[in-house]
Amino acid sequence: MVTKGNKLYEGKAKIIYETDNPDLLIQYFKDEATAFNAQKKGVIKEKGVMNNAISTRLFKLLEDEGIKTHFVEKLSEREMLVKRLEIIPVEVVVRNIVAGSLAKRMGLEEGTPLKEAVVEFYYKSDELGDPMINNYHIRAFGLAKDEELEAMVESALKVNDILKKFFDERGILLVDFKLEYGRHHGEILLGDEITPDGCRLWDKQTLEKLDKDRFRRDLGKIEEAYEEVLRKVLS
Ligand code: UDP
Repeated sequence: MVTKGNKLYEGKAKIIYETDNPDLLIQYFKDEATAFNAQKKGVIKEKGVMNNAISTRLFKLLEDEGIKTHFVEKLSEREMLVKRLEIIPVEVVVRNIVAGSLAKRMGLEEGTPLKEAVVEFYYKSDELGDPMINNYHIRAFGLAKDEELEAMVESALKVNDILKKFFDERGILLVDFKLEYGRHHGEILLGDEITPDGCRLWDKQTLEKLDKDRFRRDLGKIEEAYEEVLRKVLS
């Protein structure tokens, strides 16, 4: 049992609370959604509840497959107990199919399959709008040590294999997703959340978008899409 303490940090979609255990934090999932570096704001009804449930199922799956994550347990509808991380300010994006910013950058149509998974890094900075960086920047700016970066990439590619198969078995294409990592007593752990907020998920048959692009692009039926992902993830 842990006791909830002070608010440590409030982000766009989550609030982090301290607990009476200095090694553990509580992640509270909100319904708020933002896009385009918080220029677009809205609420996706019950998103917090759905994202907590989706993340819990996926972190359990990954832990069972040997991935080290910050997940400890789901505490309530909107709360998850996690290990305290010193967050590495690098977002790791893994892609299987061209979409979003990669489609723009390469002048390709969304939906073009990639011959192999692509890993990209973005510098976590709201002021700068998360610019893309590479392993040289990560080293030169001291954002992560070589062995930490290696651990992150190895983990991210394994996560991709596990999640791709898991979603495929449930009729969903894992197009791309974003991961965040942090340090915990000298170990690199997968942190943050794994939800339709940070993944592109397409229905395998219809290619219908089942993720935050419905909010970003005003496609409607946002709650329904998250509900469908939740239902399939729990099946
Ligand atoms: N993503 C994210 N947070 C960000 C940027 C991207 O979770 O700040 C996720 C996004 O949901 C998608 C993947 O990372 O699943 C790749 O996003 P992309 O680079 O295509 O950027 P976008 O088109 O979303 O701006």
